Amino acid sequence: MTTVFKKIIDRQIPAEIVYEDDQALVFKDIRPQAPVHLIVIPKKEIPTVNDMTEADEALVGHLFVVMKKVAQQLNLAGGYRVVTNCGPDAGQEVMHLHFHMLAGRTFGWPPG
Ligand code: 5GP
Repeated sequence: MTTVFKKIIDRQIPAEIVYEDDQALVFKDIRPQAPVHLIVIPKKEIPTVNDMTEADEALVGHLFVVMKKVAQQLNLAGGYRVVTNCGPDAGQEVMHLHFHMLAGRTFGWPPG
């Protein structure tokens, strides 16, 4: 089944894209949980963290470098939180590996 994130990659549905390269896409979450709430995805379709293989190590490392660049571009000097949900207990809704990048307020710990 085609996920909503694959449709965003393929421009079948719109999104507010803030960064793109050949491997990665970053766009604004449609239901933001913070003043800044971005979704960071690989263009490769990997459903969850559990579906990663060792061949994906460099790709996921690249996503973190992308997050650093986006944080610099958006001047997130106060910091940000990176979250990934894996599976039903974590509340994963979209079965395309993604990282939430949240900023613009302080965050509690432990998370809910
Ligand atoms: P998950 O719960 O899978 O970790 O997070 C999925 C995220 O994708 C949610 O925060 C949700 O708001 C976001 N989302 C779901 N559908 C869309 C969409 O069509 N466009 C955008 N920009 N975000 C979406």
